[in-house]
Amino acid sequence: MSLVIADSVKPSANGTHHHPADDRPITLEVRNLSAGYGDTVTLSDVSFAIRRGERIGLLGPNGAGKSTLFKAIMGIVPPISGDILIHQQPVSQATTRVAYVPQFEEIDWKFPVTVYDVVMMGRTRHIGWLRWSRKGDVHDRMVWDALARVQMTPFANHQISELSGGQKRRVFIARALAQEANILLLDEPFAGVDANAQNIIFNVLEALCNDGVTILLATHDLGMAATHFDKLILLNKTMLAFGRPADVFKPDILAQTFGGQMAIWKADPADSTSTMIVADHCCP
Ligand code: ADP
Repeated sequence: MSLVIADSVKPSANGTHHHPADDRPITLEVRNLSAGYGDTVTLSDVSFAIRRGERIGLLGPNGAGKSTLFKAIMGIVPPISGDILIHQQPVSQATTRVAYVPQFEEIDWKFPVTVYDVVMMGRTRHIGWLRWSRKGDVHDRMVWDALARVQMTPFANHQISELSGGQKRRVFIARALAQEANILLLDEPFAGVDANAQNIIFNVLEALCNDGVTILLATHDLGMAATHFDKLILLNKTMLAFGRPADVFKPDILAQTFGGQMAIWKADPADSTSTMIVADHCCP
């Protein structure tokens, strides 16, 4: 198996922003990470460094370890070996705010709570426990602002359980906005989301990146990954590649990552540098 670390600076063919002399600070660095559950090693040899304002796609089939990587970064799953550094500090000592939007299945949607309250939970760390936000105070305003950014203001008083899949995602992204995080981890935020909600989410993420927020997002949508991210991490139990989409979307790397679960087409077969469009059949 070959490991590809492609970090060359190339002119962008896909519209994502590049910084020729990339001197932005590294916000998240993972070094030789291995992690798992009990005696089982789920993830091994993962190493990458992400800069301020970068948008990074995390790709891999089901069971590849994408969620495990997020949980390790969040300090929920302890590393077996290796290091995770946030602004050069170990996770446990990091002062940088990291927000995590977990996979759908990990959230108890029956919990009786309103949309407004879910987003206000993002303010807990700012308010402090056992204190309350008041109407019109800074926290209240941030919640309303976050709801507006994901176009969920009219649903503020609805129960979270009443919402569609795409609306629920947007509420959790609003909660992450309310956290004022510098690093945002999103675990498959587009699964089961319609095109309208997807656009809303993408516009919010784009604005966050422009404000210097670093985004790491797991997705099954390889076509989107090719066009909407600065770099991609290809994962399947171990890291198979990290680099710009055009550099990592190579048949051998994709085959190693997804096995037989995918098909590849080239946008232009005559042009060996054209971006490949890839369909992932692994998930609905
Ligand atoms: P992905 O997010 O890429 O689908 P995961 O990180 O969820 O992959 O899972 C990677 C592997 O770890 C899978 O084999 C899965 O069964 C296992 N796993 C995930 N969570 C747990 C857990 N809490 N306890 C034991 N094994 C787990």
